[in-house]
Amino acid sequence: MKKINLSNPHIEALEPYMSARRIGGKGEVWLNANELPFPRQPMSLDVSDYHRYPDEGPDLVQAAYAAYAGLQPNQVLALRGADEAIDLLLRAYCQSGTDGIIISSPTYGMYQVCANIQNAAVIDVPLTEDYQLDVPAILAQEGIKLVFICNPNNPTGNSFNREDILTILRFFEGRALVVIDEAYIEFCPLESLVSEMANFENLVLVRTMSKAFGLAGVHVGYLLANETVMAIMRKVSAPYPLADPCAQIALQSLNENATQLMNKQVNQISQIRDSFCEALADMQGVTNVVPSVTNFVLVFFTDNEATWEALIEAGVVARRIPHSRLSEAIRFTIGTIEEMAMVIQVLKRLS
Ligand SMILES: *Cc1c(COP(=O)(O)O)cnc(C)c1O
Repeated sequence: MKKINLSNPHIEALEPYMSARRIGGKGEVWLNANELPFPRQPMSLDVSDYHRYPDEGPDLVQAAYAAYAGLQPNQVLALRGADEAIDLLLRAYCQSGTDGIIISSPTYGMYQVCANIQNAAVIDVPLTEDYQLDVPAILAQEGIKLVFICNPNNPTGNSFNREDILTILRFFEGRALVVIDEAYIEFCPLESLVSEMANFENLVLVRTMSKAFGLAGVHVGYLLANETVMAIMRKVSAPYPLADPCAQIALQSLNENATQLMNKQVNQISQIRDSFCEALADMQGVTNVVPSVTNFVLVFFTDNEATWEALIEAGVVARRIPHSRLSEAIRFTIGTIEEMAMVIQVLKRLS
């Protein structure tokens, strides 16, 4: 067979994104992808129309999500996960080889991945020592179309000063979109910028049902934006963005009972997280626990390698983050009480 070499040169140079699933691992306790640990209850699906393309599904889902988020249905676009929202923003707003985005590392990896695929420049304005936004450095950048702010931030687990975000929004008004990734906002609803949607045309929010809603396997996410941005996003969105089974499950998961259950589980996880952090606080070998408002915690160890090996040995799969500032850290998703007790046991044996 003849070898082919036809791809875009900048694509040729890329490495595939290493998701938690791709990295894989062996174990019984999965604390590496910030999923909820609670199994879902059975649901019934009406499949009678499945010989037709889906249509109404997304409309109903978008209306239900709008009601949940306190917005109008025309401000909501339902997509294949928050990741698709990030990708579509890059494609719609960044001209290949010309425009750039700002990220503040350490942060979620997909902003960089989608920018690389689009051949958009990535300007990293690292977080300050206490993991806050470096506002003066962000405002000093040029040629920017999108500013990605993950709030609360993955993998550090903290949220950013609201005034800082508002300063950035004001500065970039008319110049760049400020995209707030609120993937974990259900764990700290007061931190949401959704109430500012009415004030800033350049504010875009990204949300997901993969985390607090416990539906990672269904992979439904949302882009929330005002009409000018939404008009552009509709041009680049796929004609059938959600398969109907996903739309039906998303819709059922947004009714009153389901959102009540979601909030209850969010509270449970927050309590387990606080006990976990307390247990870590004065443990030998732990040098820092970053205060978290999410369902995961970033922990620094004196001997990260030995800690990692001990966890693997015990069947605990957590996450190491490939970032120079985090070489001594492990990110733990908060699992069940039993799972976190097991982690504590492993760490205690080490210390
Ligand atoms: C998990 C995660 C996403 C991806 O969400 P999906 O809806 O599953 O694609 C986006 N942003 C952040 C910060 C995340 O942690």
